Amino acid sequence: MENFWFFKKKRNSNPGGNGLRKNLILDEKGINTTYSGRFNAFLATLDFNNLKYKIIETYRNDEKQADYYKQGREIPGNVITNARPGESYHNYGAALDLVPIDKNGKVDFTDAIAYFEMGVAASKHGLEWGGSWKSLKDSGHFQIPSKEISIDELKLKYPLA
Ligand SMILES: [Zn+2]
Repeated sequence: MENFWFFKKKRNSNPGGNGLRKNLILDEKGINTTYSGRFNAFLATLDFNNLKYKIIETYRNDEKQADYYKQGREIPGNVITNARPGESYHNYGAALDLVPIDKNGKVDFTDAIAYFEMGVAASKHGLEWGGSWKSLKDSGHFQIPSKEISIDELKLKYPLA
């Protein structure tokens, strides 16, 4: 788990490094600047409600997406995504993964109540919550709604460089 965190941190320190798509501009958090305002308003609501969180991941390049897709298929472990490279909102900086932080300052992946409260806040800001998905529920995942912009539309807007 320690290595896992280090890995995440390292990757986020260079948002949009390798594999950045054409027209895609990321802010300092690795969020698509087109959507920064909305995600920041959502995070501000969490702060206002004293819901502590840690940002796990924002932009994810296609190479990393391919690695995630292999897990539970070509390599051992649970399936963590059904999205192939270019098929995740993370690949466009249009998704954000959070984990609640408990009162001792530790991340808690099991705090269903905190996740639910985050989901409620997300919907108020016009974001889609992965905890409401029917299959492969992802309680820490928040994204621009697929009804608003589809993956196919994102691919056209932000083609591979
Ligand atoms: Zn996610």
